[in-house]
Amino acid sequence: MALSKEEQTRIDLAASLRIVEHLGMHEAVANHFSAAVSEDGKKFLINPKWKHFSRVRASDLLLLDADDPTTADHPDVDATAWSIHGQLHKNLPHVRVAMHLHPIYTTAISAMKKPHIPPIDQNTARYFNRVSIDTMFGGMADTVEEGARLCSLLEKNSRLLMGNHGVMVTGTDIGVAFDDIWTLERSCQILITALSTGQPLNVLSDEVAEKTAQDWESIEDFSRKHFEEMKEIMIQKDPSLLD
Ligand SMILES: [Zn+2]
Repeated sequence: MALSKEEQTRIDLAASLRIVEHLGMHEAVANHFSAAVSEDGKKFLINPKWKHFSRVRASDLLLLDADDPTTADHPDVDATAWSIHGQLHKNLPHVRVAMHLHPIYTTAISAMKKPHIPPIDQNTARYFNRVSIDTMFGGMADTVEEGARLCSLLEKNSRLLMGNHGVMVTGTDIGVAFDDIWTLERSCQILITALSTGQPLNVLSDEVAEKTAQDWESIEDFSRKHFEEMKEIMIQKDPSLLD
């Protein structure tokens, strides 16, 4: 029997959480991934508060309504997640998926005085002129105002490097967003490894970087395939993901 759109989204979102845990990109029992299930984008699934990514099953994901103010009182809803993801799904209907993490290398780049990802290889070039930077970190985001401010930064670019904090990647597809946040972390790992040699970086020309970024944008099927392969690995490892 064919799965409904919500059932499929539940499986894909649970898989994406397990994959990033498998890859060591999660932090403790923090961080949230969400995905819209309604046409207007306002009804969305999100992982429950303080549940380890490696144990999330499709049925554990909470179905929330961005227009319902009583959601903030739900015991399994994390306040910071609600203020950010709730505002995103309320205000930006084109955002179908939002993934927030504090991965080591990306967060280290975010902590620099002037966070920047110069194009020095194929991975870093994917993000050429395509990442918004926020350097206004003011503690853990738990207000509607903070969520709205972050939304305005995600209108222009699908990625937001959150200064002194981590990253938010948005998109229209769970597979593509997963591949994007993973490649961003890998880019920052390459950048920091190159910087650690103390030698000057050989930064690509704007022309080559732009062409490379466009090439990436034309192979979203590669990103989706990466996700589908990883999802199968996670299901084989622990089929409870599908429950
Ligand atoms: Zn965070």
